[in-house]
Amino acid sequence: MGRSIRELKGIGEKTEKLFLRLGVEDLDGLLAYYPRTYDVFREPQPADTWKEKEVQAVYAPIDAAVSVKQTRNSVVTAASVRHGDSRISLIWFRMPYLRSTLKKGQQYVFRGQVARKGSGWEMEQPKIYTPRQYEQLLHSMQPVYGLTKGLTSQAVAKAVRQALEKLLPVQDDLPEAIRKQYQLMDYSSAAAAIHFPENTQQYQQARRRLVFDEFFLFALEIQRLKNKTGTQENRYPMKPAADTRRIIDGLPYRLTNAQMRVWGEIEEDLQGKGLMSRLIQGDVGSGKTILACLAMVMAAANGYQAAFMAPTEVLAAQHYRGLLRLLEEHGLDHLQAELLTGSQTQKEKRGIYGRLQEGEIHLIVGTHALIQENVCFHSLGLVITDEQHRFGVKQRESLSLRGGNPHVLVMSATPIPRTLAMIVYGDLDISILDELPASRLPIKNCVVGTEYRPNAFRFMEKQIAQGRQVYVVCPMVEESEGIDGENVLDYARRLRSALPVHIRTGILHGRMKAKEKQQVMEAFAGHELDILVSTTVVEVGVDVPNASVMMVENAERFGLAQLHQLRGRVGRGEHQSYCIFVQGTQEKEIRKRLEILNQSNDGFYIASEDLKLRGPGDLFGVRQSGLMNFKIGDIYKDSELLGQASQAARDLLDADPGLEASEYTKLREKIQKIVENNSFHTGL
Ligand code: ADP
Ligand code: MG
Repeated sequence: MGRSIRELKGIGEKTEKLFLRLGVEDLDGLLAYYPRTYDVFREPQPADTWKEKEVQAVYAPIDAAVSVKQTRNSVVTAASVRHGDSRISLIWFRMPYLRSTLKKGQQYVFRGQVARKGSGWEMEQPKIYTPRQYEQLLHSMQPVYGLTKGLTSQAVAKAVRQALEKLLPVQDDLPEAIRKQYQLMDYSSAAAAIHFPENTQQYQQARRRLVFDEFFLFALEIQRLKNKTGTQENRYPMKPAADTRRIIDGLPYRLTNAQMRVWGEIEEDLQGKGLMSRLIQGDVGSGKTILACLAMVMAAANGYQAAFMAPTEVLAAQHYRGLLRLLEEHGLDHLQAELLTGSQTQKEKRGIYGRLQEGEIHLIVGTHALIQENVCFHSLGLVITDEQHRFGVKQRESLSLRGGNPHVLVMSATPIPRTLAMIVYGDLDISILDELPASRLPIKNCVVGTEYRPNAFRFMEKQIAQGRQVYVVCPMVEESEGIDGENVLDYARRLRSALPVHIRTGILHGRMKAKEKQQVMEAFAGHELDILVSTTVVEVGVDVPNASVMMVENAERFGLAQLHQLRGRVGRGEHQSYCIFVQGTQEKEIRKRLEILNQSNDGFYIASEDLKLRGPGDLFGVRQSGLMNFKIGDIYKDSELLGQASQAARDLLDADPGLEASEYTKLREKIQKIVENNSFHTGL
């Protein structure tokens, strides 16, 4: 921790606590507490251009008496002014003294939110300025901060002003050469201007500099990690296997061109001089799993073991079943495959550990259980992780370590922009599956209110009559006091009574035992159930191509990313599929958010739109995973800057790999601090 904010005038113990609640611990933290947005003071606009709820200003004399009325709850002060041809009523609550401060005949500027009133407008609680005061504010951008109860934007701004005075100027940690090359503002100016920009241009320059800093440090750190590892010799060289060719030819579908291309890349990697280290990025349903299976078979054909790690037991079990089926259908029964998950008994696990170590098991599919202490491999040549953003780098590494240093393949549906992926997965080559199987029909979406439910139920019934299956997702497992929202248990009951008795409804949620979950999932996959009412445990990876309807209750409760993943559970086969988002509340903002899903099935588009609407709060689950803690940078909007920062980091490390020049001491310390705070290691 640095210098205390108690050094500032007007900040005592109480206010310090309020700042702490905002995450501001010290003066440095205060400087980095950037405004959420800015209030721009514009010239007064004609009233016929106003829109409801906008903030507007009028420049006018008070031309009639100011009245004060006592109402039941408050004292209301009212005045009215002319603005062009319009009448503007001004009202203030609990400010009776205004009657004497506002002088008749004198000019003022009133500024506030406007609402239509009769043929004119009303401004509630407008701020009052003298023309001179307003003139000074004109075109300025006043910072608006994220707040907590008891703090106002003005109070934060005042504290920031003082902090700026105390701390600045400071020496710039970014090497001058880089500042010059990328035309970046100096740090002290940027730190001040981000809070109090004189105009938009200055704001943009300040922001650009600060975003660059964030990206640059991030890229430096990742890059340094990568340099430590370096490319490694391929100690598990493989030859192309006839078995994989046979599988590809025998599949009930043809691989897409994208799948073929990526498979070619994998095959080449496995034969190459260096170890494979590859990321496959592909939207939900692009067909990543089959590539994993092919790679595993190739490893086995070359005499190596292969491991396939999934983030949930449900998914691990599904992959395992799929793999078994594939082996069986293609005469590969001699390959021993096993499933290893946390919920197996000690005895079962011990048996598997033993056979893994002896090399009796060739292919293993599992969860985190695969990276437990006791797991030792005989000849692990390949490790694959599915939906990898849910695993940490450390976990990935530890699986590699356990088995020596095998080939690594990671698969992800997270639509991270390429520039970022290249930095984040600095140690990985990237393959993109940018094509969905041609047999797929685009999913039809709708966003509806709860009153639509009876129609939805009838629609499900019809789909089920045609042999299809249905998911219903609810946010909760059971009824919970104080929280509105549908729950799995009650919903399943309701469905059972609303639909004909022959329709088989099952439930799935996180509180069930792993065995039960597995049984239900298998029953659904085997079409012994028509409807699965579930929590978001089906969110990632679950693959039942016969399912054609996904109905999400309380869709407003979920992030767009999550909804996109949920929707990805249907539209996986040749059947036309439907996604019904049921909105539990009628809020407009939410409606807008859901409309994005309604309009597009493209994960990238959704991610960037989500970001525009909600800010960088949750990047498809990436942020929660602690991958990046960018305060101000936006990996989509600022992707060009991200590329530049990454280039700058590379150049710098090429010149001075250890950052040993005295010029870089500060930079090194900063990176060290980030590493200690663990801001981006754990999540990835
Ligand atoms: P994801 O990329 O989301 O992990 P999966 O690998 O689970 O997708 O594949 C989704 C579904 O599409 C599976 O049922 C799979 O069998 C099927 N599939 C994969 N590739 C193709 C293809 N080229 N043509 C048709 N269906 C395919
Ligand atoms: Mg998948």
